[in-house]
Amino acid sequence: MMTIKSLPKAELHVHIEGTITPELARKLADRNGITLPQALNGLSDRYHWDNFNHFLDGFDLVAGCIRTGLDYEDVVYDYLRRCAAEGVIYVEFFGSQDHGEQAGLNYPEMVGHLAAAIDRAEADFGIICRIIMTCIRHLGPERAVIVAQTTVDHPHPYVVGFGMAGDEKLHSCLDFKPAFDIVAATGLPCTAHAGEVVGPESITDALDNLPITRIGHGVRIVEDPAVLKRAIDAKIAFEVCPTSNIALKVFPTMAEHSLPKLLEAGCIVTLNSDDPPHFGCTIGGEYELAAAQWGLSRAQLIGFTKNAITASFADSQTKAKLLERLSGQE
Ligand SMILES: [Zn+2]
Repeated sequence: MMTIKSLPKAELHVHIEGTITPELARKLADRNGITLPQALNGLSDRYHWDNFNHFLDGFDLVAGCIRTGLDYEDVVYDYLRRCAAEGVIYVEFFGSQDHGEQAGLNYPEMVGHLAAAIDRAEADFGIICRIIMTCIRHLGPERAVIVAQTTVDHPHPYVVGFGMAGDEKLHSCLDFKPAFDIVAATGLPCTAHAGEVVGPESITDALDNLPITRIGHGVRIVEDPAVLKRAIDAKIAFEVCPTSNIALKVFPTMAEHSLPKLLEAGCIVTLNSDDPPHFGCTIGGEYELAAAQWGLSRAQLIGFTKNAITASFADSQTKAKLLERLSGQE
């Protein structure tokens, strides 16, 4: 009998402000004198939103509970504690300078607090974690250049990559090339959200214009065989977030999700939770789902972990250490 709980897992696509549970949101709100809507009372590990705008409002409301460096530490430590309890050995999360500024922290302060929590979680739970700094697409290309420049001006060993989140429908990736070029020039690897809300043309746009080795989501690539082949040939890794995709109606049902097609085509697939309490998922739950929904074997599930570690932006020594923890597990 396969126990998925004990299986070593890894994830590359989770927004740290999107990991705050209702329970933690109440704790942060209390501490900071913020009044949360009544609807959050009584919820423990997930939110219930009716539609996309409701989700976005909820995300901002909860992220807005972070007001201090200590809050950031609690958010990171709490998330990594929950992940470690599910057998996760590595997390690479998206940090956001824009959210940090909203909390009143400058970039080096924010990263210092994130790193302190990462160190504590590794000491307490053995979980390893690194950060991808992200610009937010709908805040525009000029803001992205500032975020990129700040990232390279204050290098930190735990900030191992650069990414872009936000509304795919706005701007072209070409507009963000100057920002990505700033970070890529220093050797930082990159990823970008594409092929989630918008179809394969958004992936072509990203591959044409950005120095990326991974795609956030990318699940709609199956709509265009030529783009699919291009991504496979370029060994692009896909940060697939199945439950998020259903919650945000990228696919009507899980049965219609493209994950099996991606695997069959030979894509490098990883499993991820995106904004777990907002979508009612966890990274461990995504592994359970993959086994139950698509009948994947233990070796295939370990394959997701191996793909995540190999495609991660951690240094080669860290990757080797993590891969060692997979040996003998298949
Ligand atoms: Zn995302």
